[in-house]
Amino acid sequence: MPEILEVERYERLAARTVGRRIARVDTPDAWYLKRGADAGAVQSVATGATVGGVRRIGKLLLIDLRDRMTLGLRFGMTGRLFVDGIAGIDELEYGSSRVEPEWERFRLEFDDASRLVMHDPRRLGGVEIAPDESRLGADALTLTRAELAASLRGGRGPLKARLMDQSRIAGMGNLLTDESLWRARLSPTSAAGDLSDQEITRLHATMRQVLHELGERGGSHTGDLQLARTRGAACPRCGSSMLRQTTGGRSTYWCPACVDGAS
Ligand SMILES: [Zn+2]
Repeated sequence: MPEILEVERYERLAARTVGRRIARVDTPDAWYLKRGADAGAVQSVATGATVGGVRRIGKLLLIDLRDRMTLGLRFGMTGRLFVDGIAGIDELEYGSSRVEPEWERFRLEFDDASRLVMHDPRRLGGVEIAPDESRLGADALTLTRAELAASLRGGRGPLKARLMDQSRIAGMGNLLTDESLWRARLSPTSAAGDLSDQEITRLHATMRQVLHELGERGGSHTGDLQLARTRGAACPRCGSSMLRQTTGGRSTYWCPACVDGAS
């Protein structure tokens, strides 16, 4: 699914539209318009508007319309962005790499006939007008150690769920979180607030490293742990059996032997 690294690519691709004027808005799927937005509202906000800027907070892509409001684009599990016929990402972990016209959920067509298209087979993403940006925590790509420490403080729930709580840290998805915890030799199920200062420092450095490295490799599915994300797989580091369990509602793979070895 699109995590912060994928949406960062979408952001770079969408930046091509800055300065273009929107001639037409197509909303073929009413379900895809969220938080009170409907076809009429999106038309009146976007038609005739010029794209003033493109931003991103975590997994939320923001298109600022000059002298108008902001459109917020979310990509759910299988959302892909196309601009000028170019795909931001070729394929996604849980999505089909096929391109089908009926999977197009939202389209902006510009004066020069170029297009921005959201393509989403499972339609778990969506578009909203003026999304509440204050609901999102610090962006994971620029997260400081102090911000990480603050987001973990007092947490009694599992560490993994805390890291994926978008209101605390924006952008971490399932794969990036498992990879970071495994590399930092931390248990996804330990209480978030129980980490020592030393462990927070290690986790912060590891998250930075993971985001940088996987960004270079091509996305959140390129982690060292990726091949071990199957039942009965061996830990790529120590060879012990990986444990699979559900944490924070998501399939979690981790190696208890590596965590024990670190303490
Ligand atoms: Zn291990």
